[in-house]
Amino acid sequence: MSHTFDISVDALTAPVSAPSVANGWPIRASDCAEAGLQMPLGSGRTFYIETFGCQMNAHDSEKVAGVLMARGYRPAKSMAGADLVLYNTCSIREKAAQKVFSRLGEWRGVKDKTIGVLGCVAQQEGEEIFERAPWVSLVCGSASYRKLPDLLAELESGGRRVMGLGLDTEETFETEMTRRDNPIRAYLTIIEGCNYACSYCVVPRTRGPERSRASEAILAEANRLAEAGYTEIQLLGQTVNSYRDPSPRGWNFSRLLRGVAAIPGIHRVRFATSHPNDFGRDIVAAIEDTPAICNHVHLPAQSGSDRILRAMHRTYTRAEYLGKILWIRAASRPISVTTDIIVGFPGETEKDFQDTLSLLDAVGYDGVFSFLYSPRPRTSAAEMDGAVPEQEKARRLALLQERQRQIQLARNAALAGTVVEVLADAYQAPRAQWAGRTSSNRVVNFVSSHANLLGEYLQVRVMRAGPNSLVGEHAV
Ligand code: SF4
Repeated sequence: MSHTFDISVDALTAPVSAPSVANGWPIRASDCAEAGLQMPLGSGRTFYIETFGCQMNAHDSEKVAGVLMARGYRPAKSMAGADLVLYNTCSIREKAAQKVFSRLGEWRGVKDKTIGVLGCVAQQEGEEIFERAPWVSLVCGSASYRKLPDLLAELESGGRRVMGLGLDTEETFETEMTRRDNPIRAYLTIIEGCNYACSYCVVPRTRGPERSRASEAILAEANRLAEAGYTEIQLLGQTVNSYRDPSPRGWNFSRLLRGVAAIPGIHRVRFATSHPNDFGRDIVAAIEDTPAICNHVHLPAQSGSDRILRAMHRTYTRAEYLGKILWIRAASRPISVTTDIIVGFPGETEKDFQDTLSLLDAVGYDGVFSFLYSPRPRTSAAEMDGAVPEQEKARRLALLQERQRQIQLARNAALAGTVVEVLADAYQAPRAQWAGRTSSNRVVNFVSSHANLLGEYLQVRVMRAGPNSLVGEHAV
């Protein structure tokens, strides 16, 4: 599933740990001169970031926003009102990449804005972006964000086109300036890149090889987040559970989970995305023992057919995957399981597809992100024979989604009448309803006679269930 997130002025209301630039904005050079100050770089300019793709990308945009604000840029209320428009892109699906080029087309001939492309499409297409959209001035790949301040400096001093590519294998995890735009949930990168080589995936090329962040640095950052008032932390990585502490204490992922969950003030720790190959019983044990570790595992299967799993280079069999599901299901605490499925991979037969459908039944997933396969440039799958016709892919996707809808409905219905803990994260005024998530990551819409529940943990009685959410009442 492809999401877009916008970083706008409304989303950026919390104080930023970056140099403050002035009381009012935009800052004018004359104000600085009068005060005997040097004009901060970028001052008076505004920015707007539109983000495509996964949580990793959403969090990267928070880091980029921090870098910009440290240089004196201010968030604009809208893209139209911004001096600097940045697209933080995703190329994991063909559609997402195409969307970026169609968005860029809207700025053809623009004179009063600087347009930039960040992220996976930037990393993959590089110079090609300047050729297809000559009005773009900045291209910076997802593994090169450390170069961003230098690239901005070049632009600020009159540079026409600047580009940062190459795989920077140094730490790019967080900066002092990371500007978190979600007031409820803080994302925290613990591992960058990926050492797997799934035949359909661009990530190892766009984000580089796997590198883990030292556990001391992660705990220090998590402590700062707790002090800032965050109670939920989501640990991020393309293969988050492949984490290997590079520091002498050599923590593995489950030890790190326990360490973050033990920080005073942290009430929930989530993690995404896990690779089945590195998913061990120790992670299940950590969830069982530690209420603060959320009882939800996102474990992408991609297919239920061994033949297709081999063609995808997924490094596990269906039986091995199901063995891990058994550990999860045997846990003393119920743990929800969600997954990703690709439909219509090259060579996928009806039998392979039926194997995927039967995997849904065998696991009983609580949620599935399902995608039509689309070939990505410079991946080995793009060269494979046996393309499944688009119409057939769409038919299979619809069947799969309907089967999963029934499974979710049944699983959610079993919760009717129970009381669940919900972290309230939104208020929907038209319906006078609050929304939040359970530890198992289910969405709950509920009514309450109380006001100002944002960020509160509440006991909610589940009244009824749909396939995608629960409906409840605040049980006071
Ligand atoms: S594990 Fe596979 S799908 Fe996931 S990021 Fe790595 S190469 Fe891509």
